[in-house]
Amino acid sequence: MLSRYITLFIFFAIHIHANSQISEKIKKEAKDQSTYALELCKNLHENPELSFQEFETSKKLSAELRKNGFEVTNNFGGNNVVGVFKNGDGPVIMLRTDMDALPLEEKTGFKFASVKKSTDSKGNQVPVMHACGHDIHMSVCMGTVRSLVSLKNEWKGTLIIVAQQAEEVSGGSSKAIESGLFSKFPIPDCALAFHINPELESGTVGLVGGTVFAGVKTVEIVVYGKGGHGAYPEKCIDPIVIASRIVLDLQTIVSREMSPLEPVVVTVGSIHGGTRPNIIPDEVKLELSLRYYSVEAIEKVIVAIRRICRAASQMAGMPDTKLPDVKVLPVETPPVVNNSKLSEKLQGFATEIIGSQNVLNVKPSMVAEDFGKYGLTPERVPICLIWLGSTSHDLLKELDAKGEKPAPLHSPVLNPDYAKTIETGILVMTNNVIRLAKKN
Ligand SMILES: [Zn+2]
Ligand SMILES: [Zn+2]
Repeated sequence: MLSRYITLFIFFAIHIHANSQISEKIKKEAKDQSTYALELCKNLHENPELSFQEFETSKKLSAELRKNGFEVTNNFGGNNVVGVFKNGDGPVIMLRTDMDALPLEEKTGFKFASVKKSTDSKGNQVPVMHACGHDIHMSVCMGTVRSLVSLKNEWKGTLIIVAQQAEEVSGGSSKAIESGLFSKFPIPDCALAFHINPELESGTVGLVGGTVFAGVKTVEIVVYGKGGHGAYPEKCIDPIVIASRIVLDLQTIVSREMSPLEPVVVTVGSIHGGTRPNIIPDEVKLELSLRYYSVEAIEKVIVAIRRICRAASQMAGMPDTKLPDVKVLPVETPPVVNNSKLSEKLQGFATEIIGSQNVLNVKPSMVAEDFGKYGLTPERVPICLIWLGSTSHDLLKELDAKGEKPAPLHSPVLNPDYAKTIETGILVMTNNVIRLAKKN
């Protein structure tokens, strides 16, 4: 009996020793690669490209993948790049990074700040900035690629890198999936991604099992009226008054018709009607952004929106032939649902490599990400999106003392702690892949 315990003890001791040896190798590799990745990040930050225009960015990433021995497919449904690295029998692991930037004028004052302008899809000249951290995601991804290639004797399996276009307009992942991502390339056993989070300190990661990001639907409403001179309201039906009533009544959907335990947002983000003070217009246009976690909930919300619009117009005396048009746009982003088992596993891996104090349980959020679509195909690939803390300890402390919060994503003064965020990202993701595809 005693000898059995001794054998077990020796087995665990060897196991722990081997594990910590691998951890040390991963830490050294992540540190080494972070210098390269930081330079890449500055270069990408200075040269941002809008959604569906990631021509140069995708070239840079595919060149790096090729250099590291990946089989690379360019222009996979647009500017998407797919890189495959086969390293023996083992699990297929997909890592996804997004590549696009936003139409924003950068105001950070960084040495490598963007001064770039591009033509958007409507033909307007707009400034461009990486204000959602996709420059960091790409750099972490490429740093992880280099680490994993350098440590290829520590793992067995297939690594698939998807450098994805147009995350910001939610068109990139659909194009990759429709082009046959899961039929032309091996089906992943899991798909992982990072998103930076300015509210979390650099050096930390945040994990959520289950729904982590909300789904989005966009609704366009045209409210009709009977226009005329502003001096003769009695001869008109004013669509501005109807639209105003609709805006207020929409607020009661979440507060009065939905369970308080059901996360839903109804935001009227734009309202346009009229040209002059003395003209009652014929119509008013509204644009709504809806956020949700469950399909049943959002269907209920849409039914309520239609009912409120119809009722407000009827109450104002509009005929049935001129009731509001309520259009739910076909482009939508489903919620991102992290596979709970996978998320738990990754939480354990992250705890081993950066310590439990740096692995945070975070709350789900109402922002959206089109990464969720990879988990909703018939292949039902388990996915996990990990928050990557991106604001320095000192800055968080300084802001906290003033009662302020760090600049959020999509801010022209987004201020990530680039070096530490990138190194942590490479460290955690390299460790994830090695632990998931352990040699024995
Ligand atoms: Zn964004
Ligand atoms: Zn983003």
